[in-house]
Amino acid sequence: MLHLVVCIKQVPDSREIRIDPKTNTLVRQGVPAIVNYYDLHALEAALSLKDEYGARVTVISMGPPSAEKALKQCISMGADEGVLVSDRAFAGADTLATSYVVALTIQKVEDTWGTVDLIFCGKQTLDGDTGQVGPGVACRLDIDQLTYVEKLESLDMENRVITVHRHLEDGVERIRAKLPVLITALSELNRPRRASLPGVLRAARYKPIVWSTKDFPDLDRTKIGLKGSPTIVSKTWVPEPRQVNTEVITTDDAEAACDTLVHRLSEVGLAETLCWS
Ligand SMILES: Cc1cc2nc3c(=O)[nH]c(=O)nc-3n(C[C@H](O)[C@H](O)[C@H](O)COP(=O)(O)OP(=O)(O)OC[C@H]3O[C@@H](n4cnc5c(N)ncnc54)[C@H](O)[C@@H]3O)c2cc1C
Repeated sequence: MLHLVVCIKQVPDSREIRIDPKTNTLVRQGVPAIVNYYDLHALEAALSLKDEYGARVTVISMGPPSAEKALKQCISMGADEGVLVSDRAFAGADTLATSYVVALTIQKVEDTWGTVDLIFCGKQTLDGDTGQVGPGVACRLDIDQLTYVEKLESLDMENRVITVHRHLEDGVERIRAKLPVLITALSELNRPRRASLPGVLRAARYKPIVWSTKDFPDLDRTKIGLKGSPTIVSKTWVPEPRQVNTEVITTDDAEAACDTLVHRLSEVGLAETLCWS
């Protein structure tokens, strides 16, 4: 049976984060924590393969104890097991340290439940937004990576070959790869399912497995958390709101309005950029 691992991160719902106009700082209070948007697409991809071929789906996350809730949501959607890797020593990790711990976790998942055939990640997170963890994990595990995947075309179980479509800036790439591979999911890949009632009931009783530093005997402590992070965020700030001067073209003559619009855009050098010149 296929063994699929989905990497998820619990993130603050950025749609709910506001900027306080007086202090110009982010208002995070009361902002709900959600499963990263792209990770739900990664999970759906794994669950669809499970529906079609039968598979074991293990969801993993490195994060604080509160991330258990995110794992339970994945269980309610149909994942078989949820593993939370949580320890103060992991805190403050940059993407290099995060990918180290996520890769170690996948190796331990493999030792515990058998060979992993496919690893799914989101394209990026809503908070860190770097898109580096998936590729980093693939490099550390020394397996191929298929990033920006918008379609799973087919899976040849006999030859262990997957065919996907990758979204590129100027087109689509159809690519075949031998398992095991790591895939990073775009939102075009699918539409995440809603939790089923049996899923919700199972999730309500389910307790995710929690692993800490003690569960990784070969852990290199110089590679985790703040100590293992070569990058340091030295300062964060909210960008100044942009000043926008709006001009409304008011005329009943649509053609004249268009002419005026194109003229104004040329004046500020935008018409060419927009290929309207
Ligand atoms: C320069 C820099 C410095 C940072 N310093 C700090 C710091 O000091 N303290 C701090 O708390 N954070 C810090 N962060 C944030 C932290 O590195 C990221 O949250 C974390 O490394 C994941 O990166 P990301 O959010 O950009 O994920 P991305 O690379 O955008 O994530 C891509 C995908 O990888 C998977 N993934 C990502 N994170 C996890 C995870 N934790 N568990 C399982 N799967 C995951 C998901 O599938 C996700 O969709 C820093 C980030 C950067 C870029």
